Amino acid sequence: MKTSYKRIRYKFGKNKKLDVLVIVIMLCAVALGIYNYIQEQSMLAAASMKDGECEIHMIDVGQGDSVLIRTNEGNVLVDAGTADAEDDLRDYLISQGVRDFDYVVFTHPHEDHIGNGDMIIDEFDVESVIMPDVQADTRCFEDLLLSIDEAGAELIMAKPKATYKVGGLTLKIFAPIGECDPDDLNNCSIVMRIDYGEVSMLFSGDAEKAVEREVYERYGDELDCDIYKVAHHGSVTSNSDEFFSAASPDLALISCGVGNSYGHPHREIVDMLDRNDITVRRTDVDGDVVVATDGEKYWLKEE
Ligand SMILES: [Zn+2]
Repeated sequence: MKTSYKRIRYKFGKNKKLDVLVIVIMLCAVALGIYNYIQEQSMLAAASMKDGECEIHMIDVGQGDSVLIRTNEGNVLVDAGTADAEDDLRDYLISQGVRDFDYVVFTHPHEDHIGNGDMIIDEFDVESVIMPDVQADTRCFEDLLLSIDEAGAELIMAKPKATYKVGGLTLKIFAPIGECDPDDLNNCSIVMRIDYGEVSMLFSGDAEKAVEREVYERYGDELDCDIYKVAHHGSVTSNSDEFFSAASPDLALISCGVGNSYGHPHREIVDMLDRNDITVRRTDVDGDVVVATDGEKYWLKEE
């Protein structure tokens, strides 16, 4: 059956009020078109990265953790912040042109690290999820497992010495070393190093001093890094001298909320970083922090 469409033609001059209305509608449509075009272009500009470069984005999610590591060939997300930051996290990732992740690592199942885990799995294309082999008796953990199941993402339980590669990045897991205790979730945290060429980043979730000692004794020099994601939001329960000395970073990244009730980062840790002449960036002071690297050197991207 043939369908014929009639063109709608408006003739000006018959009704002045209607003419004005039609002109206003036409102008609005043009303005909307221009606005959308500018939005799209600025998004593409933000999303574009030179080939061979990698960016590390410590996203400001308040009192929580979420770090995006991007290359032109693959994306990794380490933790997904607290549920309060859902809109901020989603908007940030979209503004970066991120649509999918090769790996999403949940360091441990506390709400400030997995709070938006279900949103990430539901709304982005996630290939694999890496998490410690431990269950949390919480709604957000159940929601996360449900989302992983529904999305059909591969679920990998973190094992020490396992390595994963994507887009020039190598993830090497150090901990958890033994069995995880569900009553001690901080110490179930995944400790891992991510390398891009010669540049290394060390992540340890909220692992405390006991785990740091175990990891240090087992891996020693392998903890050596350039960029250190300061453990447990800068708490004194983590960041022991021996672990920090082995890491010996030049740049320390702290993720914590403005005026948080834990007092993170603790004064002792801030002083230790200062004494060691470490460059520090923190989300409560600096907002989102972006570091770029070409695999040899790295630099802070600041306006
Ligand atoms: Zn935490």
